[in-house]
Amino acid sequence: MSSGRPRKRFGQHFLNDGNIIRKIIAHVAPAASDHFVEIGPGQGAITRPLLASGARLDAIEIDRDLARELPGRVATERCTVHCADALNFDFGSLATPGEKLRLVGNLPYNVSTPLLFHFLHYAPVWRDLHVMLQKEVGERMAAAAGNKTYGRLTVALALRCRIDQLFGISPGSFNPPPQVDSVFLRLVPHPVPLASADILSVADRLVAAAFGMRRKRLRNGLRGLVAEAEISAAGIDPGLRPEQLPPAGWLQLSSHVARVKPELAKHGNALPEWLPS
Ligand code: SAM
Repeated sequence: MSSGRPRKRFGQHFLNDGNIIRKIIAHVAPAASDHFVEIGPGQGAITRPLLASGARLDAIEIDRDLARELPGRVATERCTVHCADALNFDFGSLATPGEKLRLVGNLPYNVSTPLLFHFLHYAPVWRDLHVMLQKEVGERMAAAAGNKTYGRLTVALALRCRIDQLFGISPGSFNPPPQVDSVFLRLVPHPVPLASADILSVADRLVAAAFGMRRKRLRNGLRGLVAEAEISAAGIDPGLRPEQLPPAGWLQLSSHVARVKPELAKHGNALPEWLPS
């Protein structure tokens, strides 16, 4: 059993509902040829059934006690434990040429949004990502343009992945129960990227700037980055507010801006060289 009390600062709410665990595994459908990365294995509730498929698994756990205890809990050499902070983990270092990784995690809710952005940085590494997180975050992830929860996270995700909302989980399935409802969902990176890495990088920059001042119209929110005339030249109305522009519109704007201001693309990400950018 646990070495101590669940640690609030690490967002520890351990799954203790066999039906939910079985449902998670049924949706993930692990196979012996899979290579998983599990974020926050905790006491191994999901780790054990994933490993039972014969798959390989890299577990990333920030809590030193839980990381130390995990090998005893899973009892297989196919599990490698990294006692590390997933927020700055280099996932590219785990993949080998020709292989795509599968991410699974009942995410610590206090850092689920920055974790998602960090995972997205490695989008070409993933075959798919199955995550459990707070219901409200799940709603933001899949919000439609015009909705007040539509924002930076929604656009960054839509440009890189498809999102399947799988099922909801109530607080009683965890120990201790969180104060929020949860949702389990799947992200599948677009098989053919919607745009080059440079264009996506420009999109990230513009989206972050515009939603940083979400009440301002694009012409003002993007001032200093993109001139109003260039927004118009891209075929986008500079009088729109950021939440009124759907992901396809952000892509259209970013494709134009990447051509006229290529210096806005940020280079030097940590993806392995063999991955297509
Ligand atoms: N997977 C377990 C389960 O479902 O019962 C535990 C899930 S619990 C919600 C979140 C887990 O993530 C905890 O084990 C916690 O220690 C770990 N964790 C929290 N922050 C982390 C971080 N930044 N990097 C890696 N693991 C983290």
